[in-house]
Amino acid sequence: MSAVTESSVVEAVTKELFIGGKWTPSTSGATFPVHDPATGAVLCEVADASADDGMAALDAAASAQADWAAHPPRERGEILRRAYDALLTRQEELALLMTLEMGKPLAESRGEVAYAAEFFRWFAEEAVRIDGGYAVAPNGTGRFLVTKQPVGPSLLITPWNFPMAMGTRKIGPAVAAGCTMVVKPAEQTPLSMLALAQVLAEAGLPDGVLNVVTTTDPGGVMEPLIRDGRARKLSFTGSTAVGRVLLRQCADKVLRTSMELGGNAPFLVFDDADLDAAVDGAMQAKMRNIGEACTAANRFYVQRGVADEFARRLTERMSALPIGRGTEEGVVVGPLIDSDAVAKVGELVEDAARRGAQVLTGGATLDGPGNFYQPTVLTNVPSGARMSAEEIFGPVAPISVFDTEDEALAAANDTEYGLVGYVYTNDVKRALRVSERLETGMVGLNQGIVSNPAAPFGGVKQSGLGREGGTVGIDEFLETKYIAVSL
Ligand code: NAP
Repeated sequence: MSAVTESSVVEAVTKELFIGGKWTPSTSGATFPVHDPATGAVLCEVADASADDGMAALDAAASAQADWAAHPPRERGEILRRAYDALLTRQEELALLMTLEMGKPLAESRGEVAYAAEFFRWFAEEAVRIDGGYAVAPNGTGRFLVTKQPVGPSLLITPWNFPMAMGTRKIGPAVAAGCTMVVKPAEQTPLSMLALAQVLAEAGLPDGVLNVVTTTDPGGVMEPLIRDGRARKLSFTGSTAVGRVLLRQCADKVLRTSMELGGNAPFLVFDDADLDAAVDGAMQAKMRNIGEACTAANRFYVQRGVADEFARRLTERMSALPIGRGTEEGVVVGPLIDSDAVAKVGELVEDAARRGAQVLTGGATLDGPGNFYQPTVLTNVPSGARMSAEEIFGPVAPISVFDTEDEALAAANDTEYGLVGYVYTNDVKRALRVSERLETGMVGLNQGIVSNPAAPFGGVKQSGLGREGGTVGIDEFLETKYIAVSL
């Protein structure tokens, strides 16, 4: 294999639309630039799809649907399994590509490629486990046959923060279930998805099953597809604000939806916690992906007996983190995605400080090019601070102190979001009590990372609808059909 260099991994990606198994420029010929967030440099240009291109992608998905639904499940699974192998074989080049367009350190990009691949392995196994049922009707004379069928052509929209894994978490179950799809990756990180399309095509995915449109006009391209009537499903990962818009559009066609939206994760540390483990978990829950994760700990609530020591240790760890371009050896904190993200993080820190919070470390941008913000720890963050209600999406850890379990739970649940919560305690009764009372779809109990392809990922309240991964992940792409049988 030739050496993996920055230019070689960018050159290796076909920067066109992938429609009906063919690479094609946009009908207008338009392109848009992809930037390196660490330097601001333009990496390359990719095709900028128009509404007509989007419709061509849906045409291709709709035409391929019947054949794909009839494709043997074992073969659908084997395509995913081959793609899993290919992703791991190409892990190094795909990781570098991801770091270049998204900014996260190379070690984290390698981790994401492996995590993304695991969804393909998991759903390769699930493809052959789609079950049904046969039962005697209560009156004893009839019989019930229950079978599951693919939902049909699906629209998949993904964010920039996990540019490959958020794609495979949807593409994996869609392929396994027998659905065709139109995928629209985020404008800031289209390259990882285009590379993924190449991998799937090489793994034998038939033409038209996967179609990828990159665009600077997400609403203009996707809304007509939602309103067209042939798509039967929208699976979206992104902000709650955009999710609400898409839900309204889907309502008009009664489209099935999966919504993986924003989070505002509380991280609770009780006096009886293992403080070493709590600080390790806090670093993972806060700093994975430079804090740009829906699962990122957004609010730390620490019981009074350990609050000062927790803040001291977290500050020590955060202030020692090496910052820089994600391609550099040893860097742990890369750039944020763009200058708007840096500005928003800065505003949230200033707002908290104005309301009385103390900045223990960080609290500023870095001089020079790139979208860097220092790892930051704040204490005495009052409940009215904007960062208590809004996703920070950056390397900022706000700490507040509590006295009682009820007080901690009330603060933790005082949010419109409900994706994940983290609990650190060595009291098993408290652990289960608090986990049950947290209004979230997931809980990290004495651990700072919950994501796992074999587990059901998703939120309650305004963090979303539906679950991805686990044994339920494939159900999002299946309809249950009941056949009433007369004997
Ligand atoms: P975003 O602004 O909501 O964008 C997400 C995707 O939606 C992008 O592909 C975007 O395209 C597209 N989009 C924007 N407006 C649209 C419209 N009117 N119609 C159709 N598509 C539209 O979110 P983001 O900033 O990329 O990602 C960060 C957010 O994602 C955070 O809130 C985070 O919590 C959430 N997230 C949630 C999960 C989860 O599993 N719950 C996982 C990861 C991230 P453009 O790129 O062209 O704008």
